[in-house]
Amino acid sequence: MSTVALNMPSRLETPKGLRLYIGLFGRRNAGKSSLANALTGQHISIVSDVAGTTTDPVEKACELAPIGPVVFIDTAGIDDTGALGELRTQRSLSVLGWMDLALIVCEAAGLTDFERTLIAAVRKNRTPAIAVINKTDAASPESLKAVRDELCASGLPVVETSALRGEGIEALRSEMVRVIGSQTQPDRPLMGDNVHPGETIVLVTPIDTGAPKGRMILPQVQAIREILDADAKCVVVRENRVAEAIAELRTPPAFVVTDSQAVRQVVQAVPESIPVTTFSIQMAYSKSDLVEMARGAAMLDFLKPGDKVMICETCSHHPQPDDIGRKKLPRWLAQKIGGALDIEVVVGKDFPSDLTPYKIILQCGGCVVTRQHMLSRVRAAIEQGVPMTNYGVAISHLQGVLTRALELHPEAKKAFDEAHAVLQKRFGAPSGSDNAGAR
Ligand code: SF4
Repeated sequence: MSTVALNMPSRLETPKGLRLYIGLFGRRNAGKSSLANALTGQHISIVSDVAGTTTDPVEKACELAPIGPVVFIDTAGIDDTGALGELRTQRSLSVLGWMDLALIVCEAAGLTDFERTLIAAVRKNRTPAIAVINKTDAASPESLKAVRDELCASGLPVVETSALRGEGIEALRSEMVRVIGSQTQPDRPLMGDNVHPGETIVLVTPIDTGAPKGRMILPQVQAIREILDADAKCVVVRENRVAEAIAELRTPPAFVVTDSQAVRQVVQAVPESIPVTTFSIQMAYSKSDLVEMARGAAMLDFLKPGDKVMICETCSHHPQPDDIGRKKLPRWLAQKIGGALDIEVVVGKDFPSDLTPYKIILQCGGCVVTRQHMLSRVRAAIEQGVPMTNYGVAISHLQGVLTRALELHPEAKKAFDEAHAVLQKRFGAPSGSDNAGAR
């Protein structure tokens, strides 16, 4: 995990990774912008002003009562024609998979194959979605009925609106609350259900050159807040004070959470009776599927020099001199297998559609995106049979302490062991005889 620094956010400063993503999908004239304005009660201008200049969706963070902090995404010009239009269509369809909620905005005057394609895509991706028939004020009763009948037959919930007149907006808002409540997969608490009233948790946060000046990084802030919310106590130390801090406590801590980069040192300093985990492993639990990440990590033992590996970072942070994704992980992997891998670093929200060239995917913590987004990547990897793990699990394994670091997650450890046994039957002995000395 890289250090994107954030102060304790106020409600209006909720980081994007903790907001729900609501995508507006539809033809340019379907009234997406007026719908977003009617829903939020403000002019939020999410539609790109300059048509034809970008393939990127336009994002706008705002408050949407009673749902809370959201990011609206407008896939501008999704049905444009020509080469750029085609590119933008693909780009927009690729965004569908990681929406917490997709609003398929249709015109009451009639459906086209374009809306039908979108509906097929949300159903295939299992994206929570609502079909919105907009501009009901401007359509004949016959065309409105035909559109309504076809959309209802598609199985999606259907709401009729006239954003211009403000009609149907409350009904749409209620339906959004219902669908989000029943179908989206929000982040789980970072600490899971491991913290109980009165307990003490030790958090280990190295202050190195990568640490932001005067601030803590988001997972550390989240952990402290969750511990306080649970009416527990929290001791925050640097890695050199862990043993001292534990020795000073009259009751041992319930567990220790450390930055991944100090995991080996911390494991050595913490008595075996006290479980240890890492912020990155807890991030994988909270934002992704830790069991799948542990299963995927088994492949790290069977890589060979020259194998193609994809490293994914979902934000374009400025790389540190000894960046985890670009420097440390490749170096540790090369040390382990005795030669360099063919590593490709993919940055941002894009994810290649064809994953089959890669022997394994190493994904960062994804702190700036939603769980739905991370799970869409996990699904794609599973569907294509490509192992996927995350930085936290990979680092703990490469440091030789994965068993200890997964003590709070026995189901993940079991998945790793089972996958390892299967791979050993297929590939023979693991590469590298000793993985405990990676630096
Ligand atoms: S999105 Fe990934 S690379 Fe960027 S700060 Fe978060 S964990 Fe690090």
